[in-house]
Amino acid sequence: MSSRSSDNELLRELLTPPRRVGQGMACAKCAKFFRRIKSGVVVEEGMPTDRDQKEWGPYKLWRADLFECPQCKTQVIAGFAQHNFAEHYQDDYAEKRDKEPPIVTVNDCGGMKP
Ligand SMILES: [Zn+2]
Repeated sequence: MSSRSSDNELLRELLTPPRRVGQGMACAKCAKFFRRIKSGVVVEEGMPTDRDQKEWGPYKLWRADLFECPQCKTQVIAGFAQHNFAEHYQDDYAEKRDKEPPIVTVNDCGGMKP
């Protein structure tokens, strides 16, 4: 009896299209909607290696989408995957990074993290 309910929940989850993060973003300056110009770009998140946050090293590799304002060409990276696909302590981190070089390394401990 209770398994039917969880089957229905699973089915609903499988049939629901993935949430399109980033949909509806608009450029505040140009009043134009951002366009997704590339999906699945690689972004590296850095971590400070000293107390003053002057030196940074690799931390995590993320996939996200690249958006652009059609008018001013401002680019935004959004729609981060739910989980990173590599972390600095893993043996194959450098290999993964070399295979798909990040379009940017974000060295910033503040703000909204992925
Ligand atoms: Zn713009």
